[in-house]
Amino acid sequence: MSDETSFQAPKGTFDLLPPDSAVFLAVRDALSAPARRAGYGYVETPGFESVGLFSRGVGESTDIVTKEMYTLTTKGGTELALRPEGTASVLRAALQANLHRGGNLPVKLWYSGSYYRYERPQAGRYRHFSQVGAEAIGAEDPLLDTELIVLAVDGYRSLGLTGFRLLLNTLGDRECRPVYRAALQDFLRGLDLDEETRRRIEINPLRVLDDKRESVQRQLAGAPLIGDHLCEACKEYHEQVRDLLTASGVAFEDDPRLVRGLDYYTRTTFEFVHDGLGSQSAIGGGGRYDGLSEMIGGPSLPSVGWALGVDRTVLALRSEGVALDLPAATDVYAVPMGEEARRTLFTVVTELRRAGVAADMAFGGRSVKNAMKSANRSGARFALIAGERDLADGVVQIKDLAGGEQEPVALNEVVAAVKSRLG
Ligand code: AMP
Repeated sequence: MSDETSFQAPKGTFDLLPPDSAVFLAVRDALSAPARRAGYGYVETPGFESVGLFSRGVGESTDIVTKEMYTLTTKGGTELALRPEGTASVLRAALQANLHRGGNLPVKLWYSGSYYRYERPQAGRYRHFSQVGAEAIGAEDPLLDTELIVLAVDGYRSLGLTGFRLLLNTLGDRECRPVYRAALQDFLRGLDLDEETRRRIEINPLRVLDDKRESVQRQLAGAPLIGDHLCEACKEYHEQVRDLLTASGVAFEDDPRLVRGLDYYTRTTFEFVHDGLGSQSAIGGGGRYDGLSEMIGGPSLPSVGWALGVDRTVLALRSEGVALDLPAATDVYAVPMGEEARRTLFTVVTELRRAGVAADMAFGGRSVKNAMKSANRSGARFALIAGERDLADGVVQIKDLAGGEQEPVALNEVVAAVKSRLG
């Protein structure tokens, strides 16, 4: 900890700094690339929304809404919340802009950004975290559920991740879910549970299945499962998704107890877990949310989507020892000796950058020894070195930082020479 400032990042948050920040950018890019290739357009929504959007859209009975939202009242008296998740905002934006009108459904959107939840911080669980998300709005088609799952799998695979598993379930629809819900409530009411959990039975009984405590899990052994209560349409839909996943080369595990923290999910529900992460093992999740649009005042728009955790994907890469093959931040580093060389090399560096070469230089009149250290630390392949005598000869020295060889190149040929050496 530095004592240069008395301020610290707030509890449960961390700063992304070089060089690790480059890994985060690459992960965001890799996780979104498959969706971008599949017709999903970029959407960006505000970092805060009306509290009501989340309490209605995510659900009054969820932990996210009851315990984890950062809310504030503006000077004008408006109640806002920092966004705890992306789906409600994206659907709100699509409805507001009438993207769903005109018959071009589904509306496919992807996004990436910061999310905020007032959670108890621990490894892999933060109060400020980052997700990449994708939503396909306004179509009910098992192909679409499958498409999204395949896109997520391809994103993880493209990073070189192998130790993740896909858990799959269905939550039924508005026909069969209520019947199951009632059967589950009957069962749960007979168990020995604490006051808060008993309340949860009445508002959101499916969430009780998700309780991590051993004392609760032990009692759930004989709980009724949604699979035994599905209507024909939901059964058929789920079978199709399972078949399509298999045909796409995606392995999955049926998890009849998988529910999600959010109230609006129907039918297909899935989660990606990574076994190298300890208790916060979910690296992504999603599902179908056919009822959400109506819940926030829109028309019936059956939709499906996912959100993948960027922070936890980075942790998963670390746990597997995968190092991403990132492009060098700097290809060329210029080391001037003297005032005239500073000006000349600055011009050369500018030309290099304009020609697409990542170039940097020593600033602030530092010693040559010191500047060479920075050149080596920058990861650059070449140093450009120039002193008074070089400038008098109209050249700069190009030094291969790995091999050590050095040769003079005419000033007006530096850009071409560097580019050909970089290949
Ligand atoms: P959820 O909306 O809860 O399904 O979250 C989707 C994904 O975001 C999860 O699978 C995690 O990878 C990630 N995530 C959710 N909450 C947090 C958090 N507090 N800290 C870090 N990552 C999170």
